[in-house]
Amino acid sequence: MSAKLLEGRPIAERIKQELRLEIQRRGIQPVLSSILVGENGGAESYLRAQKKLSESLGISYQFHKLNTDTSESALIEFIQKLNNDKKINGIILQMPLPAHIDGRKMSNYILPEKDVEGMHPANIGKLLFNQAKIIPCTAAAVMELISSTSVDLYGKDVVVVGHSEIVGKPLALLLLEKLATVTVCHIGTSKRGKLEEHLRRAEVLIVAVGKPNLIKGPWVREGSIVIDVGINRVGDKIVGDVEFDQAAKRASWITPVPGGVGPLTATLLMRNLIESAKP
Ligand code: NAD
Repeated sequence: MSAKLLEGRPIAERIKQELRLEIQRRGIQPVLSSILVGENGGAESYLRAQKKLSESLGISYQFHKLNTDTSESALIEFIQKLNNDKKINGIILQMPLPAHIDGRKMSNYILPEKDVEGMHPANIGKLLFNQAKIIPCTAAAVMELISSTSVDLYGKDVVVVGHSEIVGKPLALLLLEKLATVTVCHIGTSKRGKLEEHLRRAEVLIVAVGKPNLIKGPWVREGSIVIDVGINRVGDKIVGDVEFDQAAKRASWITPVPGGVGPLTATLLMRNLIESAKP
């Protein structure tokens, strides 16, 4: 392996320390309110970790568990109650929701200034105009990782694989603001057999697909930065989307999975919350 490891944890620790200091300096106690509808064991353990992180920073964490058979109108009413509570700075609606509830529609009821995940259309619109204070956490995590390498993105060939609303699309906007030359690949690129051709050009490669070993080591450009957002369970291991060992021989920086993007996202959610708590 010749690539340096691009780890999320040290960056997360630095940001956490900055957030603690900011909370103390401003003398505030931000409140994060999280809603879970129905039974979801995976989400509950994630929420416990979120609560622990919040409290370690001086943020109050409220957890609301609603019944599986909660109707859309009852959920809207509940969200509006949290919207109207001046003590609450941020609201998270845990996905997935039960099948009878339209998640996209429900998220739109969260006030944009309390939408700490940055997915309300008003916040995505601000991202387009480079005016966003609240940035979708995973995309922001990728930008932090790139920034920690001190590589200037200006004019660089950056290839993003995956065009989801939570990762690929917001990331493309953030990269364009840095005047990178951005290519977004997706399933259509692969189906036409064009993925390798685009990847070989990538000075920075970001992959957010969810398919283990999709990205072959030899496709990775020598000296590039490789950020693997993918999380896949293979047997008892968690792996990304990139053939790590082969890619690490060619890249100059590469994120481990786990340990790259993952540890940063929850911290950046808290940064969004502190931003929301600004008068
Ligand atoms: P998604 O599942 O919504 O979309 C997948 C994307 O991959 C689409 O753009 C699709 O066109 C593309 N795709 C599918 N097959 C492809 C192929 N063969 N070749 C090229 N592109 C292909 O994406 P998502 O919700 O952004 O999640 C992607 C991955 O990132 C998942 O593994 C998810 O678990 C992970 N993820 C990690 C974090 C984190 O904090 N580390 C956060 C969000 C998502």
